[in-house]
Amino acid sequence: MALYIVPTPIGNLTDITYRAVEVLSDCDIIYAEDTRISKKLLDHYSIVTRIESFHKYNEHRKLKSIIKKLELKNKIAIISDAGTPGISDPGFLIVRESVKNGFDVICLPGPTALIPAIIQSGFPTDRFVFEGFLPLRKGRKKRLESLANESRTIVLYESPHRILKSLKQFTEFFGGNRKISVVRELTKKFENQFRGSINDAIKFYEKNKPKGEFVICISFLKVD
Ligand code: SAM
Repeated sequence: MALYIVPTPIGNLTDITYRAVEVLSDCDIIYAEDTRISKKLLDHYSIVTRIESFHKYNEHRKLKSIIKKLELKNKIAIISDAGTPGISDPGFLIVRESVKNGFDVICLPGPTALIPAIIQSGFPTDRFVFEGFLPLRKGRKKRLESLANESRTIVLYESPHRILKSLKQFTEFFGGNRKISVVRELTKKFENQFRGSINDAIKFYEKNKPKGEFVICISFLKVD
């Protein structure tokens, strides 16, 4: 039996694949980051599969019992609150453990915030580096130093509370005239995008209070 990693919508409920609905309906147990959040999606698609919690505070503890269920030939699906499990969400540990124990891992293609963000940025997509959330304190400066001369497009996840502070800090490492793209609320009603220099992004978000979910792409190029 395989472990299925199933991406779920990042805002728009219709962004789920037919196959994802099929796998979630067919499997024996769905492990979800927040069962209340996922219940809404599952109800929307009339999926009645048993659901259990699997989040960053219990994932270590649950690994053994999930492996046991795979040994008993259960078909297991992992989902997170939004997007692809394992991408800045729980997923990696159970995938590693399943591989170690000889089970197939099948990750369905589907929603994730980083891919639309980088495609919409207009920056080169042939090579890019995904950094997820930067460390909040320890190791943050070192990480930014290591990215300062990166020639690939950099993709970062950021929270609305920290984005302005981060943009100001980025000027120290990338310079204020580096090209940046910031997408907000992808696939949702108030989706929008900022493109310009880091300095302009700071001015923009000083005027427009950051709200919602953000992905930042930083180009190697500077604004002329
Ligand atoms: N697993 C998810 C994925 O595949 O993209 C990421 C989960 S991570 C906990 C949440 C972060 O992803 C947010 O803080 C934001 O940076 C980004 N994100 C998720 N949904 C988004 C959306 N609709 N618009 C913009 N960014 C989003």
